[in-house]
Amino acid sequence: MNIVLLGPPGAGKGTLAALLKTELGVPHISTGDIFRSNIKNGTELGKKVQGILASGGLVPDEVTIEMVRGRLKEDDTLKGYILDGFPRTIAQAEALDTMDTIDAVINFVLDDEEVVKRLSGRRLAPSTGRIYHIVSNPPKKEGFDDETGEPLIQRDDDKPEAIRHRLEVYRNETAPLIGYYRNKGNIIDIDASPSPETVLSAVIAALRS
Ligand code: AMP
Repeated sequence: MNIVLLGPPGAGKGTLAALLKTELGVPHISTGDIFRSNIKNGTELGKKVQGILASGGLVPDEVTIEMVRGRLKEDDTLKGYILDGFPRTIAQAEALDTMDTIDAVINFVLDDEEVVKRLSGRRLAPSTGRIYHIVSNPPKKEGFDDETGEPLIQRDDDKPEAIRHRLEVYRNETAPLIGYYRNKGNIIDIDASPSPETVLSAVIAALRS
């Protein structure tokens, strides 16, 4: 099953994808994670996109589309995949339509106030990408990962100025995808405000029906 996760930043797409991946046995493909790992490893792509990610802007479509095209050719995608953070523009959605058939688009619905609350409190373990929230999902020891003990970090783009920019980019560039997929008839709206487990159950029930 090929699934796209759509929704504003901070809606919990990454958290849900990690749970859903285990449930469905298909890979979780996050374009944000791929960019961040390129930045961490100092690759050419990483150098090119570092400033864009820090500011909360979008990497150019051509770069992102070619990266996803390559990733979807890998063998682990044969039984399906969960796309998280792609497509983010109409051009990307049109390109994706030429690559594969998307079975379901899960649209996470969350208001702006909650988005800001979630993003500003988000922390992550740099080596594993494990996500915490200082209020709703704190680590056992403040500031450190439960598993590896490494210090947690705040993403540059989870700082206030970048959050504002990301929300604006979401509204202008990504939200039009809701109409795009609504027209195709394969979109499922999910309230993203409850706990990850509740959201997961709602998503699984919706996918089954
Ligand atoms: P995310 O982890 O999904 O919030 O993505 C983090 C950042 O990576 C975004 O703010 C963009 O700068 C970049 N990015 C991720 N996915 C895309 C995409 N599909 N198109 C353009 N830029 C992207």
